[in-house]
Amino acid sequence: MTDRRIAIVTGANRGIGQEIARELAARGLEVVATSRVPQRGYATLDVEDRASIDALARAHAKPGVDVLVNNAGASFDGFNAAVAARTLAVNFFGAMHLTDAILSSMRPGGRVVMVSSGLGKLSQVGPALRARFSDPALSRGDLVALLESFVQDVASGAHVRHGWPSNAYSISKIGLNALVRVLARELATDPRGILVNSADPGWVRTRMGGSAAPLSVEDGAKTPVYLALLPEGGPTGRFFAHQQPVAF
Ligand code: NDP
Repeated sequence: MTDRRIAIVTGANRGIGQEIARELAARGLEVVATSRVPQRGYATLDVEDRASIDALARAHAKPGVDVLVNNAGASFDGFNAAVAARTLAVNFFGAMHLTDAILSSMRPGGRVVMVSSGLGKLSQVGPALRARFSDPALSRGDLVALLESFVQDVASGAHVRHGWPSNAYSISKIGLNALVRVLARELATDPRGILVNSADPGWVRTRMGGSAAPLSVEDGAKTPVYLALLPEGGPTGRFFAHQQPVAF
């Protein structure tokens, strides 16, 4: 049994995730940093693999987890239905399934952070989709169906007509921003006081962000770390940039 707070940070073997893990450890948390490729000092996690998610959740069911940072993410080349499905599988469904698996054993005062993106804003989609994603009554099932309809629309060639961009990464991050609202509502009556928010890290110099990005990993980790350490009674179901709530 440990008295230290336990944080899981996914995709922590490099980039922004590595810095989030470093900063949470520096603040005294016991950090479980995950890597897709097995390596010393890391817990192995491939968010596309349900068995891998379940194994990580089982390994940390006792004494339970205090902080989950869903940072793992990918941006694939090209655009077609297969790319759309894979992007959602990693960036959206991976984070959703891991969150569900960890939430059952999350300790009181738990914090869940989704590392989203400025491309996860509703301005990326047409007005009808904007209304559906931002519907305060949007259920988990509605959200999943909406995202699945994106892949179907890409496959049938109808996606532009239906108001979707030709950018699966953007839709995966819109999905995360909608998911924090759904999760906050699902947890509204949960006595543990768990807060769930999403973060835009900004454009950061990493393998994904490239060398021309203006921000360091230290800059990019600021908002996710801030949300991981929110005090009791803090905001939930919100999208943040620069450590401030911003419009979805
Ligand atoms: P990197 O490409 O440097 O790191 C991505 C991390 O995610 C790696 O650890 C990678 O593991 C991991 N990952 C990818 N796919 C999987 C998977 N299936 N299962 C588990 N882990 C996986 O990117 P960043 O550090 O830049 O990105 C971190 C997060 O920040 C992402 O969610 C990204 O979308 C988001 N973001 C980044 C921005 C930027 O400018 N850099 C801007 C906005 C958002 P592996 O090493 O095995 O590939």
